Amino acid sequence: MTHTHQPSEFSASEQAILAPFVTDLEAPVFGLRNLPEVVKGALFSRYSRSEKSIRRILLDEFINLPEAGFHELVADASAASRNQLVAVGQAEAFYDRVLVGYGDDSVAELGGAHVACEEISNVAAKLIEDARIGLSPLEKSTRYVNFTNKVNGQYRYVREATIMQSRWAEAYEATLDHLFDTYSALLEPTMAWVRSRTPRDAQTSERAYNSATRAKAFDILRGLLPMATRTNVGLFGNGRAFEYLITRLGSHDQPEMQQISDQLQQALDGLIPSFVKRAKTPRGSAMRTYMSSIRQKLTTIAGTLPSGAITSATPQVTLVRYDDDALLRVASAALYPHTSLSLSEVHAHVATLPHDEQVAIIAAAAGDRAVRFHKPGRAFEEAHYTFDIIADIGAYRDLQRHRILTQTRQPFGGDLGYMVPPELRAAHLEEPYCVAIERASDLARVINDELGDVSQYVVPMACLMRWQVTLNLREAYHLCELRSSPQGHPTYRAVAQQIYHAIATVHPELAAHMHFVDLNDYELERLEAERRLDKKLAQ
Ligand SMILES: Cc1cc2nc3c(=O)[nH]c(=O)nc-3n(C[C@H](O)[C@H](O)[C@H](O)COP(=O)(O)OP(=O)(O)OC[C@H]3O[C@@H](n4cnc5c(N)ncnc54)[C@H](O)[C@@H]3O)c2cc1C
Repeated sequence: MTHTHQPSEFSASEQAILAPFVTDLEAPVFGLRNLPEVVKGALFSRYSRSEKSIRRILLDEFINLPEAGFHELVADASAASRNQLVAVGQAEAFYDRVLVGYGDDSVAELGGAHVACEEISNVAAKLIEDARIGLSPLEKSTRYVNFTNKVNGQYRYVREATIMQSRWAEAYEATLDHLFDTYSALLEPTMAWVRSRTPRDAQTSERAYNSATRAKAFDILRGLLPMATRTNVGLFGNGRAFEYLITRLGSHDQPEMQQISDQLQQALDGLIPSFVKRAKTPRGSAMRTYMSSIRQKLTTIAGTLPSGAITSATPQVTLVRYDDDALLRVASAALYPHTSLSLSEVHAHVATLPHDEQVAIIAAAAGDRAVRFHKPGRAFEEAHYTFDIIADIGAYRDLQRHRILTQTRQPFGGDLGYMVPPELRAAHLEEPYCVAIERASDLARVINDELGDVSQYVVPMACLMRWQVTLNLREAYHLCELRSSPQGHPTYRAVAQQIYHAIATVHPELAAHMHFVDLNDYELERLEAERRLDKKLAQ
């Protein structure tokens, strides 16, 4: 795999300035060091809306800006850098001496690191973000960042190694270039259409209007981006979570995952070596073998099943399973900590109450919710729902980020069809969009037949996919309210709204306190958020 990172990106003097703060000046995966925690957090937060690498942002927006006060924040960083290397070595010896034979995995949760994974594919980013406990990711957004730019004359997507060594190399580049060419060609007309449909009014500033209409055009066109599209992900996590991530990525046979796994190991060896060293021991490799053998066996068994298809009548969100006794369970769990009875006794008591009294317990447990941040307590985790969802990959990318859900997905593919944004149809711009996506879907299918899962790199984000979500009622409150908010993307807003409707249908009393689910449709989703930002800027 080739990377767009060039050693020459930074001059010799810039390299000297940067060196104390990063574990590597060239590798796309590297750690941050010798920086205050808040600076590391602030740097990663820029990933969402910037095309730049973190090393460039660190130079341009922190180090070289006098008003950032950077030099006072990190006085004598090069001495600190030398000291840190010594300290890491000493700490490792200390850790080994004190903890040898201790054998408790949780000790590795007691130290953390910030690691940047730059220029990786969206396929890799999704695998990384499957991590739930102990890792907090922040990723480049498809809504705020323009993907039309080229680096060294090439669009920013990963030239996947297996495909590039196969007879499909030429078709791969031609098809992905076509997707990006179409994205570029449609950007201006789409933006013009959005602006003509929703002209700026007197209360909206030029800045807010431009941001909101730009974001809308990016949202409409993101379906054209293939899963090979390069992205940046900043990770803050603890050692145990990183060790597991290194092992999990290394268990995949795609070359990019192997490479990221190795690079993560290298970056973390420079920061928290003791906490991640087991990933490279025989124990780590046995774990990789265990994980990959499970995948192989299940893929073989599943190969005997027929392939799936959907029709326009296939529901987008299907509630597959829920608890018949959810009301009783939640009401009992809500009362339990306020009594001295056993759970069974509370349950038996609540079961004898009239329905309206049971409902009153639910209302008391939900409380007077003034804003969506007033979340009901753990009793609401007693009710579980399992959904089978069909939506475009773009929507999945967003909803995947809810760490408390149990989610499993099928591979990204072109077999279930694709989504065409209604706005493109209304603007009569859908034809080039459909042509480019169908071409990519066809190529993904033939590559899949011959090379398997690496075909995922070709699949555009407009393609439909299936995934399973199991969630508890408490998280359903959070997800449905957050993800239906007006500034959300229309396709995931629709999923969040349907999850709400499904729960409200089977358990109206339990859904009754989801006051902040927004069931409206909006033409310009970002506009209100941008107006609020204007007010903050003015202050
Ligand atoms: C409009 C919008 C724009 C977004 N833009 C971007 C973007 O540009 N880039 C990007 O990377 N992501 C973006 N996101 C995704 C966002 O960063 C979260 O990943 C996503 O909302 C899911 O995480 P959560 O914290 O809300 O909830 P969940 O992961 O579902 O967790 C539920 C709740 O549990 C608690 N919780 C979970 N984990 C932790 C933890 N480690 N520490 C403390 N509390 C925790 C919090 O209270 C949290 O709200 C966006 C989300 C929205 C709604």
